[in-house]
This record gives sequence, structure tokens and C-alpha cells, in this order.
Amino acid sequence: MNSHYSKSLIVSILLLSSILKSQNADSIQLRKIFDYYLTESKCYKNLEYLTTKIGGRLSGSPQAAKAVIWAKKAMYEAGADTVYLQPCMVPHWVRGEKEICSTTNIKNKQKTNYSICALGGSVATPINGIYAEVIEVKSFEELDALGEKNIKGKIVFYNVFFDHKHLSTGSCYGETVKYRWAGPSKAAKYGALATIVRSMSSINNDFPHTGAMGYDTSICQRKIPCCAISYIGADILVNELKHNPKLKLNLKMTCQTLKDEPSFNVVGEIKGTEKPNEIILSGGHLDAWDNGQGAHDDGAGVVQSIEILSLFKKQNIKPIHTIRAVAFMNEENGGRGGKAYFADTKKNNLKHIAALESDAGGFSPRGISVDTTMNAYEKIVKWKNLLDPYFLHYIKKGGHGADIEYLQDIGVPLIGFEPDGQKYFDFHHTADDTFDKINKRELELSAGVIGSIIYLIDKQW
Ligand SMILES: [Zn+2]
Repeated sequence: MNSHYSKSLIVSILLLSSILKSQNADSIQLRKIFDYYLTESKCYKNLEYLTTKIGGRLSGSPQAAKAVIWAKKAMYEAGADTVYLQPCMVPHWVRGEKEICSTTNIKNKQKTNYSICALGGSVATPINGIYAEVIEVKSFEELDALGEKNIKGKIVFYNVFFDHKHLSTGSCYGETVKYRWAGPSKAAKYGALATIVRSMSSINNDFPHTGAMGYDTSICQRKIPCCAISYIGADILVNELKHNPKLKLNLKMTCQTLKDEPSFNVVGEIKGTEKPNEIILSGGHLDAWDNGQGAHDDGAGVVQSIEILSLFKKQNIKPIHTIRAVAFMNEENGGRGGKAYFADTKKNNLKHIAALESDAGGFSPRGISVDTTMNAYEKIVKWKNLLDPYFLHYIKKGGHGADIEYLQDIGVPLIGFEPDGQKYFDFHHTADDTFDKINKRELELSAGVIGSIIYLIDKQW
């Protein structure tokens, strides 16, 4: 062996041993992080307060205002140096009285009441309700084929199931949510009086799933009331229609959109010791639908983000970069918080080196998806072995939360946290999304993974 080779061999061995040493140090630190999360973290307690003491907190509501005050306090208690309230005007839609939906069987005269809920943004029915025939459709193509002569003066019932062949429930949701969002204007174009959509649900229970809808006045100027019907309710309605295609349905809703309200994103940070002008963001959204407690969607993401401040403070880790926990407002029906955050970022020329969002429920960790800007994926995928013992089993290229999306425009690497999603659409946007559906250990394990990723980004980027 000549001296050149022996020198380069020594350099390689030294390099390898330093990589192994630092990986070993990281793995010891991650173990400490999980010890903290599984024994000391306040995620679960914080979530209990947010969900059971404040509850559903739709944008513009008094509960949303209370949630802002709570988040500010929780961030200070977690160890933030500074907490900012970042103003944004939000839509203020109110559900009104309990919605009514019923039919009467022509043979036995028996009345059936259905579990429905108005979709966020819907207009009300006329004061005495709507009493009209129902026409069932299974796709927009079918709606178009039926056209005005079959639809005018009727209530359109979008009866579209989840396609259970998908491994990811998010894919099931992605395929069906268009009937909730765009269904009303498309049906109104053909003269429909209202729409009912089968809930975007993975189980057959009686909880209707609400969610945002959007009127498209370029399709139809007329805005018609729209609601979601529970899975079981939809099955019963199908059966009633089978026996009586001329079945008439009584629908009454008193929801309305009030004027925009001032609200806030809540931003808590610990200043970086070496690179204070470089921010690492972890966020979730503070607003939640009014019908439930917003435990999985997205109280979990909020408390997991707040807990990162606690992790750094209690473990006495001095972050190199500035660590930010962000509780975004208005993800559900407007995305105004995400937009306000981005506007503030641009106005103040802030530099983010990464942004993570947890908005897929408080379940066990499974994976993360990383967008491909600035080689973030290549950097993160190297941590797979470090994170694998903590049930983070995949790191893939892909999507991220809605609130951080705009940051992509200025090249910020985005990370979407993906817990086990198989049960998410059992609860999503329903009255059943409550604190008792949260498993403490699952919530904390996922919080631990999020904390570990933020720790590794801070240390290595
Ligand atoms: Zn959400």
C-alpha cells in the first residue's frame, strides 16, 4: 500500500467513525426526547383543556377567541421567549338551529328523521324549509347527463362512497370531497333547490360529517343550501327512494354567514442562539368545526407543536435556529391564517429553513412526507434509521399541511406529518371528534417524532 492510499484510508476511517459517533449521539438524544414525551409532556393535558373546556372553535366564534387566549398562555407556559398574535380577518359562518331533514313513507305514513348537518358556508333554506323530490346521483357525469329537465325543482343527493380499495383514507377523501365542495353550484346550474352529500366517512355510523363548501358563481349565480347526511342516513334514504322514486324530502336549515371577524394566528418562539434569523416552524390549526371538540382535527397538531417549546426548554437544549410553534387560525373554512402568516413572512423578509404541519389526527406515528425543494427529502431520509425505532416507518416525497403551503412559494422545505390514518375519517368533522377518542400514548409518540425531527433539523441544517 503506497502512502497516498494509506493516507486516504485513514481519512475515510476517521470520517466514518465521526459519522458513527454523531449518529450515536443523535440516537442517545432521541431516546432522551422520547423519555421526556412519554413521561413528562403536557400534550394530553393541554389537549384535554382545549377540547373539553373550550370545545369546537370555528373561526369567528367566541370559542375561537378563547382558544387564541389559551394558546398564547400555553405557549408561554411551555417556555416560549415571545408569543405573537398575528392578526387576520376570518369568515364567520354560524350553523343556527339544529338542521331538520325528514321524509314520510307513502305506504305506512311513517316519518324518518335523518342525521344531517349544514356544510360550512351554506346559505339557509327559506324560513319554512324546502319540500321537494330527491334525485340521487353518483357522479358529476351523471348529474350532467340528467340535466335540467330531470333536476329542476329537486334536491340533488350525491351518493358517493369511499373507494375502499385505497390503502390511504386520505385518497378516499380526496376523491369524494369534490361533491361536498363543488356539488352545490353544479346542481344549482340545473335548477336544483338544495344538495345533500353522503358524508365523507369510512364507517357506517349516524354522525354526519360537515366541512367547507364553496359556491362558484361562474357556474351559477344562485346559491342553494347544502348539507351532509350520515352514512346510515344515506343508506336509509337510498332505500326509501328505491321504494318511492317520487319521495319528497323536508329540509330546514338556518345557517348564515355574518360579517368577517378579527382573529389571530398564535406564534410562540424560542430564539436561536447562533442563527436567530433562521426559523424552523412546527404548526397545527387552532380552529375546529363547531359540531365536535376538534380533538383529532386539529387540537392534536396544536398541542404537539406547543410541546416542542417545552421540549427545548425542559431538556435545556439551546436551539441553534429560532424554533416556532404556530397555531394557525381558519384552516377549515378559508385558510386566512396560513395566508396571513405568509404575508407577514414576506413583509418582514423572514427566513424559514423548514416548516412542518401536523394535521392528520392524534394517532400513532407512521411516516412523513417531504416536498422536494432544496433537497430537503435527501437530507431527511438519512434519519430513517434513527426514527425507525419510534414507529416512523416511511419517509416519502409528497404533500404537507394546508397552512404552510404558501411558504413553498419562497422555497421553504415543507414536511407533512402522517400518523396512522385508518380511523381519521371515522371522526373527521363530526360531533364524534372528541377528546375521549384520543389515545394518550399515540398522541405522545407522534409528538415525540415531530419533536425529534425539529431537533435534528436544528442540529444538522
Ligand atoms: Zn385539519
